[in-house]
Amino acid sequence: MICSCEDSRSIFHHTEERRSRKIRKCEECRRWIPKGAKYLKMVGATQYGFWTFVMCLGCDEDWRQIRNVWYLARQELPCNCLGNLDHNVREAVDCGFLEKHDPFAVKWLGSPKERPVPQFNDEQQLVLTF
Ligand SMILES: [Zn+2]
Ligand SMILES: [Zn+2]
Repeated sequence: MICSCEDSRSIFHHTEERRSRKIRKCEECRRWIPKGAKYLKMVGATQYGFWTFVMCLGCDEDWRQIRNVWYLARQELPCNCLGNLDHNVREAVDCGFLEKHDPFAVKWLGSPKERPVPQFNDEQQLVLTF
């Protein structure tokens, strides 16, 4: 196991949709969240202390999608930990619930070369290459 879901279960968990006043990085997919874009700010606490997590709306949607894959397979999601979405996708492919060549699987498991890379122009503004 790469995580300990049970051990790190949150005592409370709160999600808020915000609009970013600066460029941020999604902690799930590690892509940039441009200034002015909506994102999710999550806060919570486990027995070990408080945590925060920044997530783009695309990842929120992808969590919904991967949960649905496991739900349709009538299986428990392997890992509920934020930041481990790719682990759930990999397990789904390994178990045959998701095609390896499914664009969703490629998005999460493809080599870095296949993933979009954020670029900055001359004025240091973020140029999204999705
Ligand atoms: Zn993301
Ligand atoms: Zn977990």
